Amino acid sequence: MNLKSLTLPEMAAEFQKLGQPGFRAKQVYTWLHKGARSYDEMTNLPKALREALAEKYPICPPKVVRKQESQRDGTIKYLWQLHDGNCVETVLMRYHYGNTVCISTEVGCRMGCAFCASTLGGLVRRLEPHEMLDQVLFTQVDSGLPVSHIVLMGIGEPLDNFDNVMRFLELVNSPEGMNISMRHISLSTCGLVPKIDELAKRKLQLTLSVSLHAPNDETRNKIMPVNRAYPSEELLNACRRYYAQTSRRISFEYAMIDGVNDSEADAKELLRRLKGLPAHFNLIPLNHVEESPLKPSSRAAVAKFQKILEDGGIPATVRRTLGGDIDASCGQLRRKYNKEKN
Ligand code: SAH
Repeated sequence: MNLKSLTLPEMAAEFQKLGQPGFRAKQVYTWLHKGARSYDEMTNLPKALREALAEKYPICPPKVVRKQESQRDGTIKYLWQLHDGNCVETVLMRYHYGNTVCISTEVGCRMGCAFCASTLGGLVRRLEPHEMLDQVLFTQVDSGLPVSHIVLMGIGEPLDNFDNVMRFLELVNSPEGMNISMRHISLSTCGLVPKIDELAKRKLQLTLSVSLHAPNDETRNKIMPVNRAYPSEELLNACRRYYAQTSRRISFEYAMIDGVNDSEADAKELLRRLKGLPAHFNLIPLNHVEESPLKPSSRAAVAKFQKILEDGGIPATVRRTLGGDIDASCGQLRRKYNKEKN
């Protein structure tokens, strides 16, 4: 068991079993959530307790195996090695509103999207709550930059690791921990409809991002196998239910792929299908992945697409590409590292 995956009340119960008072649990919780790497740092604890905890609950922080910093925009990408040797990526992006970390939720992914590097080797395993928290904590500690925003848009499908992700959100949001507001967190999904409904029930104030990437089933089936299980109409209906439950506008991600999903007719079809659903579009020029024949749309095609959406009443932004010089997009660094190792 890893203590850092426990909520404060759970940790207090665990400490009670050890015959320790509640305030000790709070001290340890605070240290762990500041990114302590060993119990020796916890100078307000008696030495005997520190030793007992180290024996019973090793901390095992992830190790930095690669760190790349963009010369252009200060984006930092970390490749972490976890206790079992698996690696995941985290990206720190510096925006005017604050520093944002993009974290991974799984080692690999089983969703099979045609354009994505993270899914090429399939799913290895899901991350534990503390392994998601560690990415935020140790990015902050290592970079010395305070983290105010989190996006769950790294390797993995967050809703395919539902319980651990929900627990991570509770931990990172806790006032005694990092205290990051739900309104500063975005969760991105490829569209697991039953899980979107489950998430809606929790009424969290986070932003739900849905990776739509196509205006209809014909195109979406070609690039996202998940669409065969949950076709786009069901997905959009789940988004409508999500909005009805939470009053939170949905953010749609749309990777623009040359000749696949970037025509004027595609933009117009989106307008028709999204009618009445409060939404925002994030247009992302496709990041080219070596193993894939898909190419990014031209700048002109992206601009035209954006204009059609906006004229039709859907706000659309073109995502600024950060860290283009450091393999910063989804799964590329891990993939490169694994290839070099083998
Ligand atoms: N599994 C989740 C979150 C991880 S991916 C999801 O599918 O939403 C984060 C975003 O990056 C998703 O919108 C994903 O479709 C997109 N993405 C993946 N590979 C990409 C690429 N090569 N170029 C542009 N966007 C990509």
